[in-house]
Amino acid sequence: MDNDTTLLLDLDGLAVVRVERLEDGARRVYLATADEQARACPACGVFATRVKGWGVTRPRDLPCGERGLELVWRKRRWYCAQPGCARRSFTEQVRQVPAGARITTRLRQAAGRRVRDAGSTVVQAGRDLGLSWPTVMDAFRHVAQEVMTAPPGPVRVLGIDETRRGRMQWRQDPGTGRWEPTAGRWHTGFVDATGIQGLLGQVEGRAPQ
Ligand SMILES: [Zn+2]
Repeated sequence: MDNDTTLLLDLDGLAVVRVERLEDGARRVYLATADEQARACPACGVFATRVKGWGVTRPRDLPCGERGLELVWRKRRWYCAQPGCARRSFTEQVRQVPAGARITTRLRQAAGRRVRDAGSTVVQAGRDLGLSWPTVMDAFRHVAQEVMTAPPGPVRVLGIDETRRGRMQWRQDPGTGRWEPTAGRWHTGFVDATGIQGLLGQVEGRAPQ
């Protein structure tokens, strides 16, 4: 197989060593580390020089073609010889395949975005990408965090809506003997009334009457 395969895969830090055609038509792609950074100790950042051993990881990736690709990455385990570093050894990792990950970063992001941006259910995204429900849900939580923490865009018309949860409840003030509604049952929501940002925030309580 020629070098085009590397370009097609587009997995930063990993190089294609060879490609094997399996009986069912799928292709098995053998990968090697192609990123110097992979041997930097994740604890102290110092580049390791002594190999402890080899390991094989088979991360799932985005669907590719009808028959799919099977990735096999043979990677090193390194000793960290840096004095004072608590990490004695570590396994190589690249951005697309972090240590311990069973799926590539781009597959995880694609799964999360299907739910977040494309209106797909978790179940459907799992079917489309061949992932389990917990994996997709986890990916969705991750990408949802990106928009939750991002500052909202400009709002032309702010909608304010007060809603009460459940039935009204009352409490008697022991000092005055007056009955007061219990606090905390009202919620005030702020929405982007003419835009597409939806609910911007929700706080407990309401404006004084
Ligand atoms: Zn270290």
